[in-house]
Amino acid sequence: MIESPESSATAEELDASDPLAEFRQHFELPDGVYLVGNSLGPLPKSARQFVETEFNRWATLGVEGHFTGPLSWKDYHHLVTKQLAGLVGAQQDEVVAMNALTVNLHLLMISFYRPTAARHKILIEDHAFPSDHFAAESQIRQRGFDPAQSLVTLAPRPGEETLRPSDILATIGDLGDELALVLLPGVQYYTGQVLPMADITAAGHAVGATVGFDLAHAVANVELQLHDWNVDFAAWCTYKYLNSGPGGVGGAFVHNRHVSDDKLPKFTGWWGTNAATRFEMACDFDAIPTVDSWQLSNAPVLSLATLRAALDIIDSAGGIGAMRRKSEQQIRFLDRRLAAQLGARIENLTPPEMGQRGCQFALRVANGNGKAVFKALEEANVYCDWREPDVIRAAPVPLYNSFADIERFVQILDRVVDHEVEGPGA
Ligand SMILES: *Cc1c(COP(=O)(O)O)cnc(C)c1O
Repeated sequence: MIESPESSATAEELDASDPLAEFRQHFELPDGVYLVGNSLGPLPKSARQFVETEFNRWATLGVEGHFTGPLSWKDYHHLVTKQLAGLVGAQQDEVVAMNALTVNLHLLMISFYRPTAARHKILIEDHAFPSDHFAAESQIRQRGFDPAQSLVTLAPRPGEETLRPSDILATIGDLGDELALVLLPGVQYYTGQVLPMADITAAGHAVGATVGFDLAHAVANVELQLHDWNVDFAAWCTYKYLNSGPGGVGGAFVHNRHVSDDKLPKFTGWWGTNAATRFEMACDFDAIPTVDSWQLSNAPVLSLATLRAALDIIDSAGGIGAMRRKSEQQIRFLDRRLAAQLGARIENLTPPEMGQRGCQFALRVANGNGKAVFKALEEANVYCDWREPDVIRAAPVPLYNSFADIERFVQILDRVVDHEVEGPGA
């Protein structure tokens, strides 16, 4: 096999030829190695200015800030539409920033989970993020069904860590005309596995179900084509790979073949009605003919301001295509360094196929001492996270992590991996 130059390059060499290397300086990162952008992305330096601008407008304009100038708060959420649409592969009438992730899942299930006596099942994964599980379960109860009959969970085969794509599609086929909704993640939060979203959507539609994705770990991590894949709906948060800060505004997608369907059940509020007549305060709901009609409340401007800062940085980096190119290099580099330095002492649960993984690694310590190793990493200022029962998640993010960060992580992991932590401070 011919080796590419990349297959032996050092971190230093890879950083030197990295076109995105300069973007690290646009973020304020805690001291140490920050590999936890899968949980909370770091602060974009420019976010302070974006927020300060709104503070100033608030201080000087007061309530007039809602109606004044290109940053008018009543339209402020539109300032992120184009960039969000680009990131998820959507058209502009299909994407809106609103609420938070779990809230959006509920609002979208009101529209896209329409159970009948014969067709009432929701397919989720067995190891779903608890919030998604709770949301699906409570939607089932709310419609008068029983989760014991209507909530179907999909697990890897015994002894396997991740879902086989063909098993997912076969399960959807088997559920057939009892299946009302498929609600799966784009990227699984624990293993980092990327699910085959286009195939899942086609399989769901083939049996007459609707298909929605939770993109919390997918957006700004992997490339998405929600419109072309014909996905019915999706929701995500923006504080992970989108760096909008803790509790940042959520995002939602509804395919534009549904956005002006007035037969869809929907929870409504004044921000979903025609903006031209909204302030006449009449009570005839006149749905905006875009996904905006799912909005309930006026938009969280300060949170959108930090998101705008992050989205501008992503744009100047060349968008998700450029980020993913670097990400794949970083994934290969971390794979290679783990194999060389840690060998069998560390197992990665993330599938090895590039098409089935994003930037997050799900590492299991072979000696069973994972929690102690995680604590030792924390003490060494390596930021990753621990997910029960036994996984250390580490995500090199192309926008702000260098190859040197990855190398340092491997060196420190090598130092602590066999180390028994006996108690606090040990
Ligand atoms: C991060 C995450 C959440 C968090 O939900 P919020 O409503 O933003 O608090 C939910 N589901 C998944 C899959 C996540 O990764």
